Amino acid sequence: MERQDVRNIAIIAHVDHGKTTLVDAMLKQSGMFRDPSQLQERALDANPLERERGITILAKNTAITYRGVLINIVDTPGHADFGGEVERILSMVDGALLVVDANEGPMPQTRYVLQKALKAGLRPVVVLNKMDREGARPEEVLEAVLELFIDLEASDDQLDFPVIYASAKAGIASNTAPLPPEGNLEPLFEAILAHIPYPVGDETAPLQVLITTLDHDDYVGRLAIGRVRQGRLTLGQTVALAHADGTVERVRPSKLYGRIGLKRVELESVTVGDIVTLAGLEDANIGDTVTDPDNPQPLPPISVDEPTLTILVGVNTSPFAGLEGQFITSRQLRDRLFREQQRNVALRVEETEDADVFRVSGRGELHIGILLEEMRREGYEMEVSKPEVILKETPDGLMEPMERLYLDVPDEYVGAVMELLGPRRATMVAMGQAGPGQTRLEFVISARGLLGFRSAFINQTRGYGIMNHLFDGYQPYSGPIEEMPRGALIAIETGTATAYALDNAQERGVLFIGPGTPVYAGMVVGEHSRPSDLEINVCKKKHVTNMRSSTAEEGIRLTPPRVLTLDQALEYVKSDELVEITPKSIRLRKATLD
Ligand code: GDP
Repeated sequence: MERQDVRNIAIIAHVDHGKTTLVDAMLKQSGMFRDPSQLQERALDANPLERERGITILAKNTAITYRGVLINIVDTPGHADFGGEVERILSMVDGALLVVDANEGPMPQTRYVLQKALKAGLRPVVVLNKMDREGARPEEVLEAVLELFIDLEASDDQLDFPVIYASAKAGIASNTAPLPPEGNLEPLFEAILAHIPYPVGDETAPLQVLITTLDHDDYVGRLAIGRVRQGRLTLGQTVALAHADGTVERVRPSKLYGRIGLKRVELESVTVGDIVTLAGLEDANIGDTVTDPDNPQPLPPISVDEPTLTILVGVNTSPFAGLEGQFITSRQLRDRLFREQQRNVALRVEETEDADVFRVSGRGELHIGILLEEMRREGYEMEVSKPEVILKETPDGLMEPMERLYLDVPDEYVGAVMELLGPRRATMVAMGQAGPGQTRLEFVISARGLLGFRSAFINQTRGYGIMNHLFDGYQPYSGPIEEMPRGALIAIETGTATAYALDNAQERGVLFIGPGTPVYAGMVVGEHSRPSDLEINVCKKKHVTNMRSSTAEEGIRLTPPRVLTLDQALEYVKSDELVEITPKSIRLRKATLD
């Protein structure tokens, strides 16, 4: 079956590049809303917290019609704290609208989600937005977008993307720049129809709907959302709900919904390519398949990132309870938290021995923090513990979660940011330009090292820094951080040379390069590095990188460094090259040491 009357697309953009404005304009022009007052609620970002924090928390769906084609648009959260969500959402669509600010160019969130979209094999349409603005520089930005595609190993098919120049604000799109003074979004709609594949599938095959999103409605209860891969589903029909653990139950959806504009509309039946919301499946979970009861054919389950961080949330028991918010009972707190778990997939809520206290686990401080803030606004007054990282016991010993950290930082703050990350044991894996005056840094860091980093980072970069992180697997737990004072003199033996770094109280290091190459050496950059798992700034071919003794790159093992006096260090020195390093600069100079 060919659903030429449907297109399913995801919308990808860095925060503030105009995703919401564009969807609003598309909704208006699709003729769905004759009464502009209905547009007061913006299509995406219905949660006010999302706007404040500049992120989109949960995927929203909307649908428009154009020339008789239903275009389902799903929003993709650009933020990485809630890992696994983006992949799931992308599994529902066949193409993506990549919205890029024609002045700012591609930014970190553009990159993360685009990477996933390309991996999922989706065909993109590139929208260069804010073309009405004076600073628009479409040629350069297009060049940067193209580079990004190449960098992310887009297929030839994906590289062959159409480019639409747009002003979401004015509701104008064009195939060429500059924009005409008047117009509409037709060129964009046409590009979607022409370029994004329509759903194809066998309507007569056994039903398959993979549940990719959950939601909750106070009247109808749990809502399970997914795309019909194959088969047909009619209201009243009994289906099999195949759980990810292999069990199957027979259930009957009480309602089927689709979308028109922002509204849910009841449907009698759905088929191949439809994105459907099912009510009445109280046990449905992400990754379950709704399938044919006589011939169940579950789809491979999708994985959701495990929580990495946990906190205790309790009823406020202080004598001042109820003064600032509203006094709540443990029952109310319990209900609220467990309700959240129903739609917030990466979140886990557990009871504790204390009936007033609950354990809440999630994908990072922001993930949990958003929930707590939301609850505070609703009037919940709570006591909250410090966050702790969830360690995992395996046959290989105790493991801790790692994160891949992406930072975009104005050049002048790079040194300061590196210094913040030093004591947190971050390993730098990449560094490059992220646009004029901007540096992009990529690190691997333990979830432990990331605790409290966000606020320090935002302060340090005066709010200009952009931070994202993704779950990056587990590594052996390296133990609590023992203190080794900043400024300690250290010696590091590499496979081919012995090198030394010393640091005086002025944060200056002297690095001696030994006779062999390559040479890695550095200095203690943080207050809390411990000798057995040392954190150093490493100097290699004039590029400063950061690495730890336990993760030395290119197979070079760093022995645990020893703390030496200057005299002892000089005794080791057999080199004739001396490098001076400070956290902000490296200077190479010849030196004779004798
Ligand atoms: P989102 O975070 O991607 O959803 O971005 P928004 O749609 O909320 O837009 C962010 C800001 O950019 C808002 O102040 C918009 O008014 C503005 N904006 C969006 N599109 C355009 C555009 O085409 N031209 C201009 N000049 N401003 C725009």
